[in-house]
Amino acid sequence: MGDYFSDSKCIPFIVEKDGIIQEVNDAFIMLTGFDKDELKSNHIRSVWQSLFRNNTGFNFINTEEEIILFTKSLEVRFVTVSKTEDIKKSETTYRFIEKPNSGLENKLPFVEKLIQDGKFGMAIYTARDFTLLKANQMYLNYIPKSFNTKELAYGKRVTELFPNFKNSHGERELRRVVKSNETLYLTELKGLWCGSDDRYWDNTIAPIVEDGEVKYVISLLYDVTERVLSREHARLKKEQIETILNSVSDIICIVDKYGNYVSGNEFSKKLFDLYKENLNSVEKCFKIFDCDEKELDLKEFDFGQVLKGKEIEKVRINIELNGEVKCFKLSGKPIFDKNHEVANGVFVLQDITEEIKRIKKIEQQNRELLQSYKKIELQKNELNTIFQNMSDGLFVVDKDGKIIKRNKAFKEVSRKLFNDKNVLNHVNEAIDYGWKHYDESGRELLKEDLPIRKVLKGEFVKEQRIMSVKETRKTYVDFSCTPIFDKNGNFQYGIVLGHDVTGKIEKENKIKEQQDLLYKSEKSKREILEKALIMKDEFISLISHEFKTPLNVIYSAIQLIEYMYSNKLPERVNELIKSIKQNTFRQLRLVNNLLDITRLKSGRLKLKMKNNDIVLLTKMIVESVRLYVEQKNIKLFFKTNVDSKIIAVDEEKYERILLNLLSNAIKFTSDGGEITVNIKEDKLLNTVAISVIDTGIGIPKEKHKLIFERFGQVESSLSRQAEGTGIGLSLVKLLVDALEGTINLKSELDIGSTFEVILPVKEYMENEENELCLDADTRLINAINVEFSDIYF
Ligand code: ADP
Repeated sequence: MGDYFSDSKCIPFIVEKDGIIQEVNDAFIMLTGFDKDELKSNHIRSVWQSLFRNNTGFNFINTEEEIILFTKSLEVRFVTVSKTEDIKKSETTYRFIEKPNSGLENKLPFVEKLIQDGKFGMAIYTARDFTLLKANQMYLNYIPKSFNTKELAYGKRVTELFPNFKNSHGERELRRVVKSNETLYLTELKGLWCGSDDRYWDNTIAPIVEDGEVKYVISLLYDVTERVLSREHARLKKEQIETILNSVSDIICIVDKYGNYVSGNEFSKKLFDLYKENLNSVEKCFKIFDCDEKELDLKEFDFGQVLKGKEIEKVRINIELNGEVKCFKLSGKPIFDKNHEVANGVFVLQDITEEIKRIKKIEQQNRELLQSYKKIELQKNELNTIFQNMSDGLFVVDKDGKIIKRNKAFKEVSRKLFNDKNVLNHVNEAIDYGWKHYDESGRELLKEDLPIRKVLKGEFVKEQRIMSVKETRKTYVDFSCTPIFDKNGNFQYGIVLGHDVTGKIEKENKIKEQQDLLYKSEKSKREILEKALIMKDEFISLISHEFKTPLNVIYSAIQLIEYMYSNKLPERVNELIKSIKQNTFRQLRLVNNLLDITRLKSGRLKLKMKNNDIVLLTKMIVESVRLYVEQKNIKLFFKTNVDSKIIAVDEEKYERILLNLLSNAIKFTSDGGEITVNIKEDKLLNTVAISVIDTGIGIPKEKHKLIFERFGQVESSLSRQAEGTGIGLSLVKLLVDALEGTINLKSELDIGSTFEVILPVKEYMENEENELCLDADTRLINAINVEFSDIYF
């Protein structure tokens, strides 16, 4: 105990009673650097807090246990603590035995030195529980704010200093260092220890061994954010520049001072390699020409100039690559280093092939334009000549009605119409000059209806005839106007063409007047003639009637004589009677024909249409005249291409037609001749043609028309010979017309004539059967007698 007390002066201790510090010795003050007053009468817990700087309670049972104690100036001391209790006084004494060289500054002088250096953040932790023993301010600055001073941070475990450190990657690394006794270098780690911040760190964790075991770890921290970021920044910049280089259409390349390729955009490298390859080779696939198409020596090419420090700007070159020629503008710039020597050359090749092509095209177009301009100029001159020399007046007005161009003819017209005003400047001068204007129907025109006003409104005018009247003067002009629009459809000019037709109209009017007069006199003449014709027809009709009655009486008397007295009369008388009878028939025929013609002409002759077999009917008529024909020693033939054909026809009229033709054929055919009646059905035209063909004297061509006219005979001597009157064929024609048929003639002199009657095939709808059989026979005999009365047998 004595030792204890004698030593007690140099062993630091403190005495505590009821939790309050009662006694502190000098050695303790020496050890900790606190004042007595700061300790005495204070609560033991606050003293422990100041000394050990954490909340761990101590029981100091294991007196050998090394404890870390912080002095007032926060220096570290390694001590063991023993505890003695005086039960009587109920006091507890705590003794602190400092380990030899217990200050860190003594233990690890190099660490101390490094910490002082402050080049990087540095801290030293215990290896056992990673309590921070010491750190420089730079390191403290890296710790979150709540612990970034010595006072706040020393004695704290790393888990307290850095939130989320527990179980983190950082903790694992730290433990690994302790375990392996190997230094760990972490570089450019994102986030300190636990990855909670955006900064980058180099962290070197080194173990420190004492008595054969790892006692401490040192952490050297360095914020490398700036370095990482600027490197990233540089990488991005490079990428941006490369993107720009590759996205421009120009070829860009950078070479070093020796002419080696440094960088550039994609195509530039290939081109540069080709250029280098071709420098010395004879077989060149890469040739350069100046803009006059003269080949340049690659070695003497401007590239070298730039590396000698000269700038070249937009030199035109043509590059032939694999047979394809492209045009470029070459620019080059040297880049100098700080000693003003060329460090790099930058070259830009701008492809202007398309531009050159375009320029050439434009030049070609310009040449063509010039040519067409010349052509237009020529045409303009031609047009102007036509314009000036045309007989019609022509002028051009602008949109305000101002006359901006006029030809000679227009000047003359305006001089005539506007009192020697040979230059009209505005259309209103003409409009307001006092002329009144009318259209073709004589309606007076408003100013708005005048062609010039219409064209100013953008309307087209086509040959509008205007009659203009002033006092006794009258003019007629045909106006044609064309508006001209600009590309937006706005009216620009009007072209007015005036064709003076006054002379023509006046002439036309005169002719019309004369024609009217002529027409009137012709008309009255024709009326007189028609009246005379009617009177004549009426007269003939009347006379014929008057003739017919006594003729019938004579004929009846002859018939009576023939029946009653013919065998009682001498032969001679009978012959005379025969002659009387024949002449009576001739007279009757003439009278009948005349009557029928006048009836047909006046429309009084009625047709009795019935369905008849035209073949049968024709054959019957032909057969009934056979006797007469053969008496004259003429052969008669009947031919047909159909056996029977029913058509609507007036039997009596048809008889008259056929008998007339047959009697003519007999009359004009001499002995030994032939007469053929031919029927031909034309199914296509739906007609039946009946031809009477003879081998007689024929009819001259010039008479073909005439014989169908009334009293039209070929030759009076001939008709005399044949005793005709020249009205038979005209009646035939009228009858054929009435049956809706046609008649035509083919004849040659001395060969014969063919009269062809074409009748339409139509059937009569009325169902009245004809009961004419007997009647028809008697009528036919009479008719033959009458029709053949001209012929002497
Ligand atoms: P005509 O009563 O005088 O016979 P037509 O009108 O029948 O009158 O005939 C007019 C004239 O046409 C005849 O006079 C004759 O000259 C001529 N002619 C008519 N038929 C024939 C014919 N078959 N051959 C020659 N001449 C004919």
